[in-house]
Amino acid sequence: MSRDLVVALSGGIGGAKLALGLSRIVEPDNLLVVANVGDDFEHLGLHISPDTDTLMYTLAGLDNAKLGWGRRDETWSFMETLAALGGEDWFRLGDRDLAVHIERTRRLRQGESLSGITADFCRRLGVGPRVLPATDDRLRTRLRTDEGWLDFQDYFVRLQCHPVVRELAFEGADNARPHPGLLAALRDERLRTIIICPSNPFISVEPILAVAGMRQALAASAAPIVAVSPIISGRAIKGPTAKMMGELGMTPSAAAVAERYGDLLDGYVMDVEDAEEAAQVAPKTTLAPTLMTNLAQRENLARVVLEAADALASSKRGRDLVA
Ligand code: GDP
Repeated sequence: MSRDLVVALSGGIGGAKLALGLSRIVEPDNLLVVANVGDDFEHLGLHISPDTDTLMYTLAGLDNAKLGWGRRDETWSFMETLAALGGEDWFRLGDRDLAVHIERTRRLRQGESLSGITADFCRRLGVGPRVLPATDDRLRTRLRTDEGWLDFQDYFVRLQCHPVVRELAFEGADNARPHPGLLAALRDERLRTIIICPSNPFISVEPILAVAGMRQALAASAAPIVAVSPIISGRAIKGPTAKMMGELGMTPSAAAVAERYGDLLDGYVMDVEDAEEAAQVAPKTTLAPTLMTNLAQRENLARVVLEAADALASSKRGRDLVA
């Protein structure tokens, strides 16, 4: 039996970069990308799923590289018209992107699941790998800040991550269930590895881990769990990861991210720049160039992560044989 199934847990931008690299070397049927839904929200009467859409657009080759979010070849007539009417324009929705939110919202109201709609959109846009929302249930990230409790997009987009973060909460997580397709993959004998993409631990990965039963299901899986650091030389490539670490009382470093994930991890891929931190990291470390500015770097990092996972799996199996 070949172990060829790969599960990747992902937020938006950083996660999608590695997911794209993985999609170049793993057969589409063998790649399951699990999307954070903590960023989802209702806006202008529409259900918006930012991380799911970033993954979908990136894997379809439709992402807007210049903006870092949304679709390429985008136009903004809707937004301009809305602004002229005095409507809410702090969350920018391009014309093409808008069609996705409108159609998703219509189908959700008819009783379809978020995962079913996502799978159908992915098929229509030519995405090979499966993109699966971590849960079909309602889960919303909220942040306690120096300006009080904020909904995620109020913090992230409207206030541009300026408030100081004190605490995070994942509303609905206790009553949410991991998607059955994910649970089946975690139990599948063909599972090669579970990868935690270089995403923001607090607002991209932990909302996935917070889904009731998720951590247990991951820990019970026989496959090695390998994370990639989203921090290089104490800095985030994009977004508030390092800022949040400082505000939550951590030193912004690759080692601190590994510590945050704790014994969930079997392996950790960190940047060659952070070699001197490797000794502080409990799981088995692999040093590699982890900055992904082009496609070759995405593919290379994907290869490194899979090789690290395979080495962990064979040493795990070797231990089992000896025992
Ligand atoms: P969001 O949901 O759009 O904020 O995206 P993610 O949570 O998936 O990604 C944000 C994180 O990705 C940040 O912490 C970045 O430092 C990290 N990131 C972005 N690009 C890269 C990269 O090329 N290499 C690594 N190692 N991390 C990256």
